[in-house]
Amino acid sequence: MLDSEKQRKIIHIDMDCFFAAVEVRENPDLKGKPVAVGGKPNTRGVVAACNYEARKFGVHSAMPMSRAHKLCPELITTPVNMPLYKSVSSEIHGIFHQYTDLIEPLSLDEAYLDVSDCRRCNGSATLIAEEIRRKIFHSQKLTASAGVAPNKFLAKVASDWNKPDGQKVITPDEVDDFVKTLPVTAISGVGKVTARKMHKLGLQSCDDLKMLGLEKLQFYFGSFGESLYLYSQGIDYRPVKIRQIRKSLSVEDTFAHDLPDLQACLGELPAIYSELLKRLERAREKQRLNPKALFVKIRFNDFVTTSMQMPASAPHKKAYSYLLTQAWQRGKRPVRLIGIGLQFFPPDLPEQLSLF
Ligand SMILES: [Mg+2]
Repeated sequence: MLDSEKQRKIIHIDMDCFFAAVEVRENPDLKGKPVAVGGKPNTRGVVAACNYEARKFGVHSAMPMSRAHKLCPELITTPVNMPLYKSVSSEIHGIFHQYTDLIEPLSLDEAYLDVSDCRRCNGSATLIAEEIRRKIFHSQKLTASAGVAPNKFLAKVASDWNKPDGQKVITPDEVDDFVKTLPVTAISGVGKVTARKMHKLGLQSCDDLKMLGLEKLQFYFGSFGESLYLYSQGIDYRPVKIRQIRKSLSVEDTFAHDLPDLQACLGELPAIYSELLKRLERAREKQRLNPKALFVKIRFNDFVTTSMQMPASAPHKKAYSYLLTQAWQRGKRPVRLIGIGLQFFPPDLPEQLSLF
């Protein structure tokens, strides 16, 4: 292990059954009962999250709600209240920021923190993690689990170790022993398919991977082989990456055949527009985005490109039709590319800096 690797202190914080825990907090009557958050049982909805009481019956997230109800007839379901989870997440991130600005959110309820340079708690990552969990509980009445380790791979494995409301620390000296017996399924990126392949090859533990060696791992697992070789020795150089603040979002389509006229251009708009909405929804799961303008870009068949924009606080199909028409009027000839998008206000409120 490299010295520089030894010096890092990474904490992985994972809220326990986050969505379900928030719902139980909001409605104390649900306490101690099996609860699932997600779509209605008679629709095609799935379980977005469930608490431990529901898990005892075999209910788990991504399971169809109808199946969850068969397994657990007394299951109580609540609809997904994303704005609430986001605001709770934002407050939790406020606590993280008291210790470090090097925060990499993985989802609303999970994040890596690099506290290598944090001087609070005498610089002890173990004490920092304990304090963060305590503060989350005091302010939110929600429990979190934490993993503390010299890198992201081990910190994530560790946060799962004593869940719920638990913590596990892997010191640099403990890394070698810890990974030796670690099952391959604990490695993030090793899903069901890869795990099955590994088991067929007789690979059960990280030590088995290490013994197989770099070349064979690359032979069997391609580009993932090198990471597997490093992980199997408890090594992970990936830095904790702060999410970039998004300034704009757009969808572009270059057509196989030039679009001859405005009607043809407008005919392509619905598909591009629905793709934009999809991407916007995905981007909004990661950070709060307040649109300030809509824009349309078109490239004519001679590669001359023009764009039009207008202020707006939300995407609007009619507004894009209007902008597309205006932009096309500038060239009035066949079009090879259409792009539409949104520009966002910079996050100006302190809570928005936490990116949720
Ligand atoms: Mg969680």
